[in-house]
Amino acid sequence: MNGTESPTHHGRAIERHARNSAPGRQLSRRTQFASLILALVAIAVVAVPECRHEQRLRSLAGTTSARTRPLTSPIDPGDRIAPAADDAESRLRVVIRSARNLPDAASAPLLADRLVAAGVTEAWVQCKQDDTDEFLGGEAFYPSAVAPVAPGFDDDRLAALIESLDRHGVRVCGWVPCFNDASAAEAHPEWRAQTVDPATNERHPQAAWLCPRHPDAIAYQASILAEVAGRYPRLEGIYTDFIRFDSDFSCACDRCLQAVSERLDAEVTPASLVTAAHERGEVWQAWTETRAEAICQAVDTFRDRIEDANAGLWFGACVLPFSAEDYSFNTQSGQDLYEMARVGLDEIVVMGYWDDWGKSYEWLDRCVRSATDLVQGECDLSCLLDGDMSVRRTWQTLDAVGHLDSGRIGFFHYGTWSDLELERILAARAGAETGRAPRSELTHVAIRIDTEPDYTGSYEAVSPAMIDRLVDLFDSLEVKATFVTCGRLAELQPAPLRRAVEHGHEIACHAYDHEQLDALSPDEQIAATERGLAALKAADLPVVGFGAPRNSVTPLVRDHLLAQGILWDGSAAYDPMVSSLDASVVTDPNDPSRSIVVIPFIVPNDWDALFLNKVTPQRMLALWNERLDRVIEAGEGVFVIDVHQWIASRPEEMSVIAEFLTGVKNRTNCRIVPLREMAMRVREQVGHVEGEARRALSRGRASVANGVPAPAQAVTTP
Ligand SMILES: [Zn+2]
Ligand SMILES: [Zn+2]
Repeated sequence: MNGTESPTHHGRAIERHARNSAPGRQLSRRTQFASLILALVAIAVVAVPECRHEQRLRSLAGTTSARTRPLTSPIDPGDRIAPAADDAESRLRVVIRSARNLPDAASAPLLADRLVAAGVTEAWVQCKQDDTDEFLGGEAFYPSAVAPVAPGFDDDRLAALIESLDRHGVRVCGWVPCFNDASAAEAHPEWRAQTVDPATNERHPQAAWLCPRHPDAIAYQASILAEVAGRYPRLEGIYTDFIRFDSDFSCACDRCLQAVSERLDAEVTPASLVTAAHERGEVWQAWTETRAEAICQAVDTFRDRIEDANAGLWFGACVLPFSAEDYSFNTQSGQDLYEMARVGLDEIVVMGYWDDWGKSYEWLDRCVRSATDLVQGECDLSCLLDGDMSVRRTWQTLDAVGHLDSGRIGFFHYGTWSDLELERILAARAGAETGRAPRSELTHVAIRIDTEPDYTGSYEAVSPAMIDRLVDLFDSLEVKATFVTCGRLAELQPAPLRRAVEHGHEIACHAYDHEQLDALSPDEQIAATERGLAALKAADLPVVGFGAPRNSVTPLVRDHLLAQGILWDGSAAYDPMVSSLDASVVTDPNDPSRSIVVIPFIVPNDWDALFLNKVTPQRMLALWNERLDRVIEAGEGVFVIDVHQWIASRPEEMSVIAEFLTGVKNRTNCRIVPLREMAMRVREQVGHVEGEARRALSRGRASVANGVPAPAQAVTTP
């Protein structure tokens, strides 16, 4: 995964960012898969000090006590306003995160009205906190007698929401995460999953994950599921989540090790597990099977308890998609889809947040197809997508998984469901019904030079001549480049940067002193950003762009850039060979007239080549060209290579850059531009795609209004 961990700072992520103040928030729920990638990357990163894109985990917040309240009134079957839309194409399923969407009791009916007006026909209402967000993981969003209650949620506003949605004919289900439960882990340390550190073979108890084989942990989660099922008779289903092990080497508690030892009839220790992971032999096979067995047993127990509380209630479970991809190595989660489909689940829901995992929509399509093969019709199969992807990306994803009808594709969104976001999804769906997303026939290529101290952090080691040499090179090739520059470097070496500007090149900001922004306090983040911008300004360098060191942008910093009127942010990266991450326009949720263009660069960059992958400059050239071909083929329209002034100004690197740019100039479907110009083109392209999608949506709506059979994407509002 050479350096692809950063594509979290993409697309609409700013909206999620804006609402989740902790850095790295957006990755924390997106399953342990992301963590695995990060862990692998982290291993690579330890050895090299520079432009990597590290994420940090948040610490746990406080806890509250449980209070209870009487159940809601029984249902009058005659009080529904309208029946739910029945045809698959007009169904729209969304997951509603309670903390953000239900700030108080009064918000419940208003939210219901808004969702219904926007065309939502199925809502999963979050009943319990998953990993730490606004509240401690495991806290209930209703007056539970079993779990601690999230502050304020003892007013049972969930009942008001469920009732309002149900009255509008919306299919309402409960969404109840299970084994990721920080409050239960805190109250019952003996329930905690134990994971083995493969570096030391030592076991560590997890702060938030429970052992899915511990009978008391299972019973506790089952009683919460049963409580929700019994408490809210209007619910038509319950979906659980986090029904898995949290890592490859979890759970290695005594009970779990004993289970695998019994299966093998030989003692398995933490150390032998680590060995087994490398060998992938009999021990690993047994480990995989016993873990899958434990998950299935938990499903079975949950099913029984739900059935006792509310007979016939629909029961679904969210699963990791990579369990379908490369199934033989599916060891991390313990989710065996073949078995799970046969132990009492009505529905398996494949999580499809590929964009957050550095994957591609083609990858998701393969995962969904393998899952379909494993489930073999034994239960329903559906998919949840990231609800904050751009219109284009949602469109492409829906096109890729088009073999699932759209009623089986739901949308998960961290933040508040705004009308804008719901409309974007509907428009993307309407677009996908009409065909492929519009392609860019012209690919804009930019060269970005991170201009900074060298990898030791030394400003003495970087000379003004490095910048001069690159400016001369670009001038000789007649291309304009973008120098993403640390403010402190501009203070020390203003002359070559001013010369670059005089020669038509762009200067953008790379913080002040190459600070890792997401490691700083909020005040320090703003200070480093401000100081960087101010230093460039003081050196008479016009700046409209920003690129965070090691892609460490935070929601706070991006909001600040938005407020400062910065045109583009380059704090994202991806590898086109394994993922796709189109440039996107991020709108200020509080002021839709303001937006910033996020333009990712591609990896490997020259840093990866030199330190991580140890590839020669010639090989790097081949990798760039291969990736450019791929981006052109995908019709994505934007391609940014990233180099560093102290690497790129060496003779061999310079000749490779010259060769690359000359090759690009010879392609008729490419144009080399500085990033500021690329940002303007991205705005146009995104506007074009959204316009196409909205036209498809209004055509669908018009045909419904005229009584013409809708071309699939009709939106009905009961
Ligand atoms: Zn265990
Ligand atoms: Zn840098």
